[in-house]
Amino acid sequence: STRVRFAPSPTGYLHIGGVRTALFNWLWARKTGGTFVLRIEDTDQERSTPESKQVIFDALKWLGIDWDEGPEVGGHFGPYEQMARLAVYKDHAEALIKSGKAFRCYCTKEELDAARAALKAKDPKAQFRYPGTCRTRTDEPDKPFVIRFKAPTEGSITYVDKVFGEVTTPNHTHQDFVLVRSDGVPLYNFGAVVDDMLMQMTLVARGRDHMINTPPQILLYQAFEAKVPDFAHLPMMLAPNGEKLSKRHGAVNVLQYRDDGYSPQAVLNYLVRFGWSMGDQEIFSVRPVAGASVPSLVESFAWESAGRADGKFDPKKFLAVQFEHMKSPELMPDDEYAARTLPFLEKRGFTGLDVERVKRAVFTVRPRATTFADAADRLDYFFRDEPVMDEKATRKFLVPAHAANLRGLADLLAPVDDWTEQNIGQTIVRWVEGRGLAMKDIGQPVRVALSGRGESPDLFQVLSVLGKDVSIARLRRASE
Ligand code: GLU
Repeated sequence: STRVRFAPSPTGYLHIGGVRTALFNWLWARKTGGTFVLRIEDTDQERSTPESKQVIFDALKWLGIDWDEGPEVGGHFGPYEQMARLAVYKDHAEALIKSGKAFRCYCTKEELDAARAALKAKDPKAQFRYPGTCRTRTDEPDKPFVIRFKAPTEGSITYVDKVFGEVTTPNHTHQDFVLVRSDGVPLYNFGAVVDDMLMQMTLVARGRDHMINTPPQILLYQAFEAKVPDFAHLPMMLAPNGEKLSKRHGAVNVLQYRDDGYSPQAVLNYLVRFGWSMGDQEIFSVRPVAGASVPSLVESFAWESAGRADGKFDPKKFLAVQFEHMKSPELMPDDEYAARTLPFLEKRGFTGLDVERVKRAVFTVRPRATTFADAADRLDYFFRDEPVMDEKATRKFLVPAHAANLRGLADLLAPVDDWTEQNIGQTIVRWVEGRGLAMKDIGQPVRVALSGRGESPDLFQVLSVLGKDVSIARLRRASE
């Protein structure tokens, strides 16, 4: 069955481009009932810290991209962090030396630099390649060495990429590349192949920037006489100006979107469109939703509909997709909406809140709030003892001319026992009509009295969620 992996290097944060790679692999595993493996490629010891690994775990968990094997969950093919696998790489490099496909190279950096300089002196345009110095040496001096691959220079490598089709690369482009450094740490191509082989990957899907690594990796599978997995390379996510997407073009750290109050499903929905499409369909749920009107990514994803064209990051479009998810109870059920809004309310100092009440309050802002942070801002007056009064709205609407109506309304509502939106609404409408008025005559003053703002959701909803005592107190205060 399908075995795919996401193999991030922990470099401080998880880039949204990496999330897209994780997503495609995860979708494929979930669609096929296969296995999604998380492997940490932490061989760059300067950048790899426990914190930056934790950031990857946190980000994937927040996104709902769960892994079947890997750190924290274990699995048959562990350990899943490369620095814990040095002995494995050593054994496999030794095996290649034994079979004559790799060799120990004792050349020092200084020697190689000198050879490079000598070549450049003769021909400045020449491409320096390892000159094969140690390829045939038989002694084993007591000196540090790297292990190099005996790269073939004849022939070519051909594979059929699931996205880009048939790719052929002549072998003369390779040199005797390093497999393992003198300190025993593998270089990327070797570590990745040994792991993908031992972890029995059936498909390796990653960014197109790694396409250049695929032919040398296939040479290594061949050297091990191992089955070569399928490959799929994903087009790039670019900045609006066509550059590589970086911090300068908006947030690229996926956890920034969590902190800004995005829905994780919306993030995945937005990211899937870089390199994959299904007609004009823009909005998807991630997993199937019973009775839903939108398709799910897990069911819809297929390599046949993957594209080759690079995509451009568009923060406005991102927010639009996010807004669709926020509005739709199908994509973001009330319970989840409330649970995700709660931390933002807490951050604003509202603690010990009743989740049921948050859920009812959230309902009132669903059609408008663009993020959970925005929702928390819009809900503020439900949870404060006193609303923060907007100055302009107060000056305009809480004027003596409206005081009698506000007082009248407070008196009207005081005896109401059945404090439901419907009953409150009927009671008020009857009262308003009985006085020869229309709702619009009292709407704004009541709104400002209850919320402190010139803009709020439906008044009857607001009254019902605020509760009787608070509503009446606010109406009275505003009428004073
Ligand atoms: N550690 C590599 C990266 O983060 C993984 C590449 C691969 O998927 O093979 O780019």
